[in-house]
Amino acid sequence: MNRSTAIAAATEYFDSGRFRLDLERRVAHRTESQDPAAGPRLRAYLSDAIVADVERMGFTARIVDNPVSAAHPFLIAHRHEGDELPTVLTYGHGDVQLAHPEQWREGLDPWRLTVEGDRWYGRGSADNKGQHTVNLGALEQVLTVRAGKLGYNVTLLIDMGEESGSPGLNELCAQHRDELAADLLLASDGPRLSADLPTVFLGSRGVCNFELSYRARPESHHSGNWGGVLSNPAVVLANALAGMVDQRGRLLVDGLRPAAIPDSVRSALAQLSVDSSAGSPAVDPGWGEPGLSPTERLFGWNTLEILAMVAGDPDGPVNAIPADARAFCQLRFVVGTDPATIGTVLRGHLDAHGFEMVAVTVEHGMNATRLDPDDPWVRWALASMRATTGKEPGLLPNLGGSLPNEAFADVLGLPTIWIPHSYPGCAQHAPDEHLLAPLMRESLQIMAGLFWDLGELRDGRPE
Ligand SMILES: [Zn+2]
Repeated sequence: MNRSTAIAAATEYFDSGRFRLDLERRVAHRTESQDPAAGPRLRAYLSDAIVADVERMGFTARIVDNPVSAAHPFLIAHRHEGDELPTVLTYGHGDVQLAHPEQWREGLDPWRLTVEGDRWYGRGSADNKGQHTVNLGALEQVLTVRAGKLGYNVTLLIDMGEESGSPGLNELCAQHRDELAADLLLASDGPRLSADLPTVFLGSRGVCNFELSYRARPESHHSGNWGGVLSNPAVVLANALAGMVDQRGRLLVDGLRPAAIPDSVRSALAQLSVDSSAGSPAVDPGWGEPGLSPTERLFGWNTLEILAMVAGDPDGPVNAIPADARAFCQLRFVVGTDPATIGTVLRGHLDAHGFEMVAVTVEHGMNATRLDPDDPWVRWALASMRATTGKEPGLLPNLGGSLPNEAFADVLGLPTIWIPHSYPGCAQHAPDEHLLAPLMRESLQIMAGLFWDLGELRDGRPE
């Protein structure tokens, strides 16, 4: 019994149709976490679609109440082989985005896994039920081939509120810090860089939304009678924004610009390109920070976007100076920007440029995380994936989008390795969400290789 036996077992798990059956019964659970009535169904996913499977693998599992949001329970399960052995924490989420069944193509039902060639349709097939089904299935095959002894401990955490912003995940990790302590987070979510490129990412950009507003007076006033002597909130706000981001999308607020991109991140990004597959928009040349490559702008830098802005009534403009103007903005940021300081930095910038009258309201966001691409765990994961697939994996220091990785990287202090099993065209969060069968088959092999190699580490650590 060896590594290739484990990979063959994972392949057979797919080819025999057992993976499909496991995914089919999980997709059938209507686990839309944004539906206020979904609480009992979210709990049922854990009790009916996960607990028995992991108990069969020797886990001790329990459903844990969410410390912040009663409707979104967690599952914590442990498979303990020895105190002296390393522990891997793995994470997935069983909730899905609202399905909107009426928007799906004729013949598709979001709650029934439908196979059409290489595409398997269903809500959650890509995000995230298919991904944690791959990981649990691969782990089970390795366990069988190793005759019930992995050589390490496994902790499994399933979140039922990820699509609602993972309420309570940071608090849960803080409350159960000792119980969730591990040597490594190995988890799967999100898309690969492209369908045939096995991918590793090490964290995600952070996100912070904020509103800028200026109300000059209670009512609007006739622009002929008052134009020239009354300030116009829309003009003021447009100028405030122009001082924060220029006409080429360059972020101008000093305190919100990141430090130089670290060499290890820069060299990882030099190997990548921005997704250009069919259906993706063309990148605008010259947009963003000058002197950076497109991948550095997308994954290694901070960006300020205006998501929406309004003054007066754009659908029925009248000859008046509007009373107020509002803009909804978003900062995406990399490691090094502290979200706790964003409100103060914005206030300081506006005041320094004469915009004391513009109010700033900052919403709670998500931290940026990024394991160093030079970390030994990264080299270990890349080597394992290379050995399994014969391909050079893509290494993405962090996703451009956001993921609740701060719970693992910051609260638990773990090195975080994410292996995505989806692809950019999977329509996650949209109608006709699907996975690609060949990609899932390869992902099962990759995960079986990783779970095998974890048991081969000397002293429980990569060299
Ligand atoms: Zn999602």
